Amino acid sequence: MSLLSVSGLSKRFGGVVANRDVSFTVRPGELVGMIGPNGAGKSTLFDLLTGFARPDRGEVWLEGRPLTALRPDQISRLGVARTFQKLRPFAAMTVLENVMIGAFLKTPDPARARASAEAALESVGLADRAHAHARALSTGQRKRLELARALATQPRLLLLDEVTGGVDQATIPGLVRLVRDLHARGLTLIVIEHNMRVIMEIAQRILALQLGEVIADGTPAEILRDRRVIDAYLGESWKG
Ligand code: ADP
Ligand code: MG
Repeated sequence: MSLLSVSGLSKRFGGVVANRDVSFTVRPGELVGMIGPNGAGKSTLFDLLTGFARPDRGEVWLEGRPLTALRPDQISRLGVARTFQKLRPFAAMTVLENVMIGAFLKTPDPARARASAEAALESVGLADRAHAHARALSTGQRKRLELARALATQPRLLLLDEVTGGVDQATIPGLVRLVRDLHARGLTLIVIEHNMRVIMEIAQRILALQLGEVIADGTPAEILRDRRVIDAYLGESWKG
């Protein structure tokens, strides 16, 4: 049985078609990569999956349960967490407090939320920064903070929007290792990623989007030789 099932999702903003008839499934334990040019509709798709936007058409199910009418907090409680492409931590709050916001979705008890937030910070390697203000973090550390906030909701499915985007080269391997560790611990992930080396290294399956549509869904090897993906995104020069 699939963990996530997406059928015929469409979303327009005025004259712009952000998603058109998007359908795919994700099995438990998979790590699915998502690629596509800027504006292809990847972040919008995450918004539709997590209740931050409502589809014009189509359905989303988590283990057979429909999500499309639910609010973000309800979807989060059911076990779907996400990070945002544009980081938005509460800058004046500490790192720990930021992560506790995620933890409070699962428990009203401050002591438990704190314990859960501390565990999440530990698992992303940010425990030593728990009492720093979020604004004092580097970009790479903010990415880890976003991850910790998502993990503190104890998700089954985690959606990562460009986790290596905007960080310097030296920071990328650590973030990639972290994503692999989360996957190895049993989490199911969908990962939007522009760095083809990274995506080839971590994804078992790749979805390619262009102009709001899924143009390919296959193994990394299949995607690399897919004519539409090469034309729309990879270009002829990409040699791995
Ligand atoms: P990607 O994440 O693949 O770069 P997006 O999902 O951010 O793409 O955007 C897809 C298209 O939808 C783009 O043309 C973008 O300008 C448009 N879009 C996204 N969100 C909005 C919004 N809230 N209002 C208007 N247009 C939007
Ligand atoms: Mg995006």
